[in-house]
Amino acid sequence: MTLSARCSTEKEALHSTREDAKKSSSTIPTPVPIQNCITLRPTMEEFRDELAFLSSEAVQNAGKKCGIVRVVTPKEFDPTRSYTLADANSKPDLWTLQVSVLEQQFLPIKTRKMIQPGKFMVGRRQDQPYPCGMDEWMELGERMKRETEELMVKRLGVEEAAIPSDMSDGNSARKHFWKSRPYQVCAPYGADIPQSAMRPDLTCWNFASDNFPCLTRIFQTNRTPGVYTPYLYLGQWGTSFGLHPEDKDLYSLNYLHEGDQVLWYGIPSTNSQDVEQFAAELLPNEAKACDQFLRHKTLLVEPRFFAERGIPIFAAEQKARDLMITFPNAYHYGFNNGFNVAESRNIATPDWLEIGLKAKQCTCKTYRAPDVLPRHRILEMAKQCDAYKYLTVPHHPSSVVESTERVKKSRRM
Ligand SMILES: [Zn+2]
Repeated sequence: MTLSARCSTEKEALHSTREDAKKSSSTIPTPVPIQNCITLRPTMEEFRDELAFLSSEAVQNAGKKCGIVRVVTPKEFDPTRSYTLADANSKPDLWTLQVSVLEQQFLPIKTRKMIQPGKFMVGRRQDQPYPCGMDEWMELGERMKRETEELMVKRLGVEEAAIPSDMSDGNSARKHFWKSRPYQVCAPYGADIPQSAMRPDLTCWNFASDNFPCLTRIFQTNRTPGVYTPYLYLGQWGTSFGLHPEDKDLYSLNYLHEGDQVLWYGIPSTNSQDVEQFAAELLPNEAKACDQFLRHKTLLVEPRFFAERGIPIFAAEQKARDLMITFPNAYHYGFNNGFNVAESRNIATPDWLEIGLKAKQCTCKTYRAPDVLPRHRILEMAKQCDAYKYLTVPHHPSSVVESTERVKKSRRM
């Protein structure tokens, strides 16, 4: 049986497709329902080869339709280094890292001095690195959640605050997250830690391995963490990642090692311009200062606002041992529903090369980030993987010759 036949489409796209929405977008947008993204449940045989899996019809169709894909990994797949919540204190290798903590705040967006409900800017302050003991970290997260809920009750009253007693299902988690944003004073996020929790002997999907089949593995220098190598994330309740596409519009992979779920939203890349237009209307000053300001990852918007504008948006509930794949140039965002350990990295594949050459990037003074994969590197990767057939945009002939020469030389060595 093929993977595409086996894939479980938890809620297939409903009647209102993007096309339908587009037809009427010149007048009044037709709202679309918020749907779940497609979940795939491959066998180990289907999953083992990373590039074969990523380029399979099932993954490609799902990612193009939803922007994000949830993969329930096969039960034989056991990538996590031998520590668990229970023995973290006795095997503290991860937990004695110096973790730089991002302290996130959620600032309501105002238009003409009026607060816009459900729309926030994520403010963040980089705290001093501190040794992250398991007990302290768990306690800190719990305390921040408790304080948020106490403030909600104080401001709204017990009935209106309606704190759910059980937030383990996605719907309660989402409802409570959005309602509580104005009241969470601080969400401490152990983000962008240049480490891996993958077992060193793991032979497939090992984000940290030199053999991981990302085209960037040919480069030995300037290996930006998170792009060329993985990042670990220690989540807490309420910690969030704002709406963004990946650097250079790469694919991204995010594996949840353990802990509470991550709630995601994804928008297919065919609607990226609609997202940018909506964001520019919402934050005209930011858009003026940087036409790629969404790459600053600071905007959080309740998904209903996209759906109301006819922009298709898909939700996912990533549970422990699930892998999320985000597609090139597809906007995505989300939040953590409690303590968890996630690991992510980008992957450059042959089909991405042409997208990478066209990708935009933020160059504004405030956020200006280095070009993690400059043009000459993309062309060099293309040469190495014999993928010029994928390239239809014009490229500078001299850099091609140069990169070819370098490749020949390195092969002779
Ligand atoms: Zn910028």
